[in-house]
Amino acid sequence: MDFDVLVVGGGFAGLSAATALSEQGKKVLLLEKKPHLGGRAYSFIDSKTGHEIDNGQHLFIGAYAETRQFLARIGSSPLLRFEEKINLHFKDSSGKSDHLSAPSLFSAPIDFAWGVFNLKGLSLKEKISAGKVFQEIKKFKVNPDYSGKIERLTVRQWLESLGQSLSIQKRLWEPLAIGILNENAQTASALGLAQALEKILSGTPKNASRLGYSQVGLSSLYAKQAENYIQKRQGLVLYSSKISSIIYQDGRACGVVCDDGRTFQGLHILLTLPPWDLKRLNVPDYLKTGLESFATSPIIGLSLWLDRPITPNQATGLINTQFHWAFNKNLIWSLPGKTQYLALVISAAHAELKKEPQEIFEIAKKELTVFPEFKKAKIIHWRLIKEPFATPSPKPGLEEMRPFPGEVSPGLIIAGDWTRTGLPATIESAVLSGHKAAQIALRS
Ligand SMILES: Cc1cc2nc3c(=O)[nH]c(=O)nc-3n(C[C@H](O)[C@H](O)[C@H](O)COP(=O)(O)OP(=O)(O)OC[C@H]3O[C@@H](n4cnc5c(N)ncnc54)[C@H](O)[C@@H]3O)c2cc1C
Repeated sequence: MDFDVLVVGGGFAGLSAATALSEQGKKVLLLEKKPHLGGRAYSFIDSKTGHEIDNGQHLFIGAYAETRQFLARIGSSPLLRFEEKINLHFKDSSGKSDHLSAPSLFSAPIDFAWGVFNLKGLSLKEKISAGKVFQEIKKFKVNPDYSGKIERLTVRQWLESLGQSLSIQKRLWEPLAIGILNENAQTASALGLAQALEKILSGTPKNASRLGYSQVGLSSLYAKQAENYIQKRQGLVLYSSKISSIIYQDGRACGVVCDDGRTFQGLHILLTLPPWDLKRLNVPDYLKTGLESFATSPIIGLSLWLDRPITPNQATGLINTQFHWAFNKNLIWSLPGKTQYLALVISAAHAELKKEPQEIFEIAKKELTVFPEFKKAKIIHWRLIKEPFATPSPKPGLEEMRPFPGEVSPGLIIAGDWTRTGLPATIESAVLSGHKAAQIALRS
């Protein structure tokens, strides 16, 4: 059977591209190497508790316009809930609390500045200095050449150049930066942070700066719905189908070969593989060379079930600790009962990746004592997930190695969070690239 487009990879990029093509009447075949869809954003059922576990807590923001469009297409919008206002709690290693709460009264930058002004852990001078970051974001938006300057600086260097003290970096900017970039402030280029802040503070749509939480496990948010969408429109989704090479005829990509020998033909081949998988395929040499520049940054997620609640808050940024964020799944998923299900995250977990799960669990036990109730709580169950290939490590200089999503040789189109979308490697970047790639296939 011949297809209009062969889409390889069933993550956010592949599914958004495939559904956009199906929407326009194209006959799509989606091939995924794993036995399930979702790529780097999936969930599964924990056999002991019966709860869904995400491979790591994923946050959305109101500014994720393409993602919202994708979810609307497959009928999943009601499963994504956005907060009424910015609402982030913080705890430092000594147990001191803070709260970034911004009203929804004025424009996004004013609301955000209001929230910063009410943080207890910052001096008046530090709060005023935050204004320099806002001004810089405006310059960044107006003058695209400016992004080159920011790209060459690390987050730490950029913030220092804007007069941000170490304390405001640790208490405000770095928890945001590591969540967005999945890399340490001393290592990550500042560009991705500036791009994300620009989106968050742009004020369009009105809830651009609000966090969005999936009301269900990640796979239940979009995987089955996207598959049904494609299959109802004369498409096909095949799992456990790993592509080992691309077939070219007269220089044009026209098919793929699976590692079990099956072959498929299509007018366009749309690859959404991350760089570390893409470089194994027979893609054009100029593309392959650049792929070597992509190092990865890991994320570790610890799901923890306690016999009692230790925090009423939805999201708590942990400061000066190895774990970076603690999410209250009871609140996020409206789970009934008196127990508490927490999702803890270590981003840029380079050092922790080598540690045994038990050792990482012991770190969590020590660090959770910043919540006084934890000392009385009994741990019912825990489960650790290491994602060694969570995202590319966005070091200075990487941006120019990111190819634009699009046609890289006749008939061969690429997409994925790591392509140059004007955003850091996130869900929105993946979906934006998927939609762009689909448009290119439709146009030709
Ligand atoms: C733990 C964790 C937490 C995260 N948190 C956030 C967050 O809070 N917010 C946010 O916006 N982003 C977050 N991200 C990033 C986000 O998950 C990714 O940006 C996004 O899922 C990437 O989607 P993608 O489709 O580009 O790539 P992928 O999801 O990697 O999809 C590529 C697919 O291709 C398949 N594949 C690879 N090789 C082959 C082959 N040879 N043949 C067939 N199929 C193949 C893979 O199995 C995979 O399914 C997080 C990532 C992780 C791991």
